[in-house]
Amino acid sequence: MYAAGTYVVLRRHAQVELEHRLEEDLRRAVRDLELGPAGEARWRHADDYVGGSSAPGRGHWAEVWTPAGDLLLSGTTAEPLALGPPPSAAEAVAAPASLRLGDRRLRVMTRERSIAGGPVVIRVAISEATLHDRERELLFGLGLGFVVVLGLAMAGGRLLAVRALSPLAAMATRARRISAERLSERLDARGAGGELEQLADAFNDTFARLEASFEQLRRFTADASHELRTPLTALRSVGEVGLAPGHSADQYREVVASMLEEADRLTRLVDALLQLSRAEAGRIPLALEALDATELAAWVVAQIAVLAEERGQQLTCTGVVAPVQGDRVVLHMALMNLVDNAIKYGRVGGRVEVQVEADESEVRVAVRDDGPGIAPEHRERVFDRFFRVDRDRGRAPGGAGLGLALARWAAEAHGGRIELQSEVGAGTTFRLVLPRAQRG
Ligand code: ADP
Repeated sequence: MYAAGTYVVLRRHAQVELEHRLEEDLRRAVRDLELGPAGEARWRHADDYVGGSSAPGRGHWAEVWTPAGDLLLSGTTAEPLALGPPPSAAEAVAAPASLRLGDRRLRVMTRERSIAGGPVVIRVAISEATLHDRERELLFGLGLGFVVVLGLAMAGGRLLAVRALSPLAAMATRARRISAERLSERLDARGAGGELEQLADAFNDTFARLEASFEQLRRFTADASHELRTPLTALRSVGEVGLAPGHSADQYREVVASMLEEADRLTRLVDALLQLSRAEAGRIPLALEALDATELAAWVVAQIAVLAEERGQQLTCTGVVAPVQGDRVVLHMALMNLVDNAIKYGRVGGRVEVQVEADESEVRVAVRDDGPGIAPEHRERVFDRFFRVDRDRGRAPGGAGLGLALARWAAEAHGGRIELQSEVGAGTTFRLVLPRAQRG
């Protein structure tokens, strides 16, 4: 567009200049005209009108006519040419026109003037060759410039694109190298500029999350197999003891009973694992119904009272009307785990209280014991799968460490949470917080 614009402007400029020269020629012709001794018209400086004196392809022409249409005088610096028939009255006021004579192109202008008081019609012409030469030069120059600029722009654009995109290519190569085994690697886009750095950050966040889930999965598998191996080993050693000769019927019964106990433990563990993995895969649909949390808590307490009795604990349940929308089985499981923990880890001969409170928006079921409490550094981790505060204390009271993980999932699936308050040496309170069901 720039080239085309330049061409149009410069061409117009050259045409205007040509017409100025034409007017200048006309003025000079008028100046040069004079009457000879016999009253004939003649050129004052006849040398300026000698044919063939101008360069080839150049030159100008002049004709002097009477108004009646008789040619009085003509002159040229190139070869003599008849510029046409006698000029008409219209031609004498028309704008300069282009004229083709043989292989020459001329610009012709006709005007009426007077010499020595008599009217004459003067027709001047000038070769357009210079104009066409200039137009050609202009076209060539602009065309060449256009090609050069286009080439430069393409090369520059390519260079810029390659430079701008090379960090992206490097990132892609690096991202391709990051596999499940090398998830700790990160993309590096420092200094690559705003958007690319954001992209790298987004990818790095994704890698970090992937790494965390892979790590969790690895730990889970390792822990699960470990947990499964323990009861299996116990089963096996009890079995081997049973195989030894010389046992009484009572002793055999005892062996079978402890094998059954281990088998039970294994079953519970596998059940819990299955439930947890289905829960985390989102495959346990909640069958929501209107429930009263106090009623549910009372039911759990009634079912588990015998365990508290065995440990000489006083188990109480108090509450208010506390409506929730929930899945009976899932919430029962969660509460059961909390109360079971309170009994298992509570002080022998102590108190376990279940207390249900409700306000406008929330229902809270607090399970309080007066056991040893949980040290601050373990408070977040007790909800992790397979985490047990005291692994070496023996497996007597504890389970596999899945109870709180399941309880937390149950709370969150209901849009609630589990809060933990504990004081080392004084007791622990787990609080299951659920959204209160709104009426209507
Ligand atoms: P577990 O099957 O071992 O009870 P949980 O997930 O229910 O697994 O609990 C994880 C760990 O948290 C337990 O092993 C125990 O060390 C600790 N814990 C849970 N509840 C209590 C409590 N009421 N008092 C003290 N420690 C507790």
